[in-house]
Amino acid sequence: MSDRRLVQVAVPVPLAEAFDYLPADDGPLPAPGSRVLVPFGRGERIGIVVDHPASTPLPAGKLKAIRRVLDTVPTIGAELLQTLRWAADYYHHPLGAVLSHALPGLLREGRALDEPPEPTWQLTALGKDQSPDRLVRKAHQQAKALVALQAGSLAVGELRERDITTATLERLAAKGWIEAGAPRTAPDARSLATTAPRLPELTADQRRVLEEIADDERAGSGFRSYLLHGVTGSGKTEVYLRLIAAALATERQTLLLVPEIGLTPQLVGRLRDRFGGELAILHSAVTERERFDAWRRAYRQQAKLIVGTRSAVFAPLPAAGLIIVDEEHDSSYKQQTGFRYSARDLAVVRAQRLNVPIVLGSATPSLETFHNAIAGRYRKVDLPQRIGAAGQPRLKIVDLNRHANRQGLSTPLVAAIDQHLTAGNQVLLFLNRRGFAPALFCPSCKDTEQCTRCDARMTVHARALEVRCHHCGAVRPLEWTCKQCGGERIAVGAGTQRIGEELAALFPAARIARLDRDSTSRKGALDAVLADVAAGNVQILVGTQMLTKGHDFPRVTLVGVLNADQGLFGTDPRSHERLAQTILQVAGRAGRADRPGEVVIQTHYPDHPLLTCLLTRDYAAFATLALAERREAHWPPFAHLAVWHAEAAKREPAFALLERVRNLAGGEDTNGGVTVLGPAAQTMERKDGRYRAQLLFRSAQRAALHRLVDRVLLAIRGSSEAKRVRWSVDIDPLEI
Ligand code: ADP
Ligand code: ZN
Repeated sequence: MSDRRLVQVAVPVPLAEAFDYLPADDGPLPAPGSRVLVPFGRGERIGIVVDHPASTPLPAGKLKAIRRVLDTVPTIGAELLQTLRWAADYYHHPLGAVLSHALPGLLREGRALDEPPEPTWQLTALGKDQSPDRLVRKAHQQAKALVALQAGSLAVGELRERDITTATLERLAAKGWIEAGAPRTAPDARSLATTAPRLPELTADQRRVLEEIADDERAGSGFRSYLLHGVTGSGKTEVYLRLIAAALATERQTLLLVPEIGLTPQLVGRLRDRFGGELAILHSAVTERERFDAWRRAYRQQAKLIVGTRSAVFAPLPAAGLIIVDEEHDSSYKQQTGFRYSARDLAVVRAQRLNVPIVLGSATPSLETFHNAIAGRYRKVDLPQRIGAAGQPRLKIVDLNRHANRQGLSTPLVAAIDQHLTAGNQVLLFLNRRGFAPALFCPSCKDTEQCTRCDARMTVHARALEVRCHHCGAVRPLEWTCKQCGGERIAVGAGTQRIGEELAALFPAARIARLDRDSTSRKGALDAVLADVAAGNVQILVGTQMLTKGHDFPRVTLVGVLNADQGLFGTDPRSHERLAQTILQVAGRAGRADRPGEVVIQTHYPDHPLLTCLLTRDYAAFATLALAERREAHWPPFAHLAVWHAEAAKREPAFALLERVRNLAGGEDTNGGVTVLGPAAQTMERKDGRYRAQLLFRSAQRAALHRLVDRVLLAIRGSSEAKRVRWSVDIDPLEI
């Protein structure tokens, strides 16, 4: 029907796009981006207005009216709404789910935008007279709070960030030393101007990079993508800070995206020092309340620097001036469940719509980004030199075929550790395997303890006296006696825990710390380890992938990569790229400041071309080589991928669904330029009791790929096969 005033509303329910409603009253229609309460099924839902359609396929009698409009001004601005609609389309995910994903929980639940912000605390006159020094011994927490508040008022969330509890604050309030302050709505006093004089003098390279970007800006370039390729420690972060300051100087907002584990106290401290109250932090560790307040400060332009992990790409930016994606190659930018988007890619789309520059920074750019730079779509700006006198670390290979090794520590590596410790420096060892040992093996009957729910071995966690499955979380007691033959079993191979024990035996005088998911699961444990390393209390740090993420350890001069072989022969087309990134990122922790660094890579394949290339040349050389291989093999960025996943308690239904997808897509042959590969079992077929299969669409033409995904989705949603399994489609998958 037509000639009606109609409102189209996206509601967060599975499989649906948007629904038509009548307006709540005769007034103006609620603008797109506004939240509305609508009747839905037997209940009601909060949805987002996405359109005012001219007509609806629904008959008049079926149309229901909106119950209530929650926003007078749209919560989702026009640009963000457009980007989200684009994202729903591109990632083939329901619009309602995408829109609701983009909002903080409290807004999703209908909380009013103009609700008063979180309270703040400030010192009273009496409080200002107190000397925290005198309190330190008796009331350490209170002293800490007083010191924090001496710089000005702080919101409750900011105090919590400093580990200051409500109880402490109440005690201080009872003494009359602190009082409730005005809610934070504008930048506080600790802003740019006060700290500006302490900025370091830029290096020639940093100045050149900033000039190049400023030149474009002066020429009125608006949107432009930059790849800032700078080796670790080359001063990329300082370049970000200057760009942020320049945007701030003209009252414009910057969105700074960082990897999940990159939001370290180090970085936050540096940003807070320089930009004070301009800062709003959005990431998964903040409370809903804090996220709501931070989001609103961005929405109202009270915060000019919005820093966050993946989902912060959906922050409101009404006065956008700049977007930065730090460590753009990091896999945490890709959401791996539900709405499987890439925050890095969406950031580029947003920058384009906002007509602002975007800087993608990394020492080891993704091959996609590197290719975009070579092809001239992104402007490449380089920082080829490290700051300080240390220079690039020297990379060295230890051939594990030629040298004895004890639980994965070769003789030359042990000698190097000894030498660096003797010189008073720190050592960092990387092994992407946590636990004590990756297998529990019986030498007499050759049985290895397997997980009953996964195609995987159980990992030995010796200290906990358990074996654990790292894929489904199953835990069993550690039993050294073999259940099959009664023989004595042994732990084979080494994880971080075993390496730690081995090192303790070899270097009894050294303090050794571990950095992995087991050792940092307790809240605050990660910060504690990092602080210990920074303070020089730890001599050897053994860790997993966590080590590679942007920490600045100035006294580390030796880095050991204990097992490079894990990545050399992976089945995934990206395994080489990932290995190269890991090696260079972890190597980048060696020899900062003025101490030269050394990197020892242990491998059974010392002549592997990837290792040779990294050793004798640099990341750019590796990337060029790897891109040639990708072109040859028709992998991204020379082809576009969509992968269909299906899993079920039995193998058959998972495969049946993918067979059906395959048939719908047109079977064996190429289909409008789309090749269909599979279905095949996933690398670990059974995980957590479910059989997993996948099917790949590949095409040199993005448009053809998306048309085909759309066509298949339309047919498959609601089909009987689809009801029997858990399935999804992943656009631009990271892992295949
Ligand atoms: P990246 O982000 O490339 O790893 P950073 O920006 O963190 O590098 O810089 C590495 C170190 O050098 C930091 O300790 C930083 O404070 C310092 N630094 C950066 N730029 C300069 C400069 N122009 N002069 C002196 N020190 C600098
Ligand atoms: Zn398992």
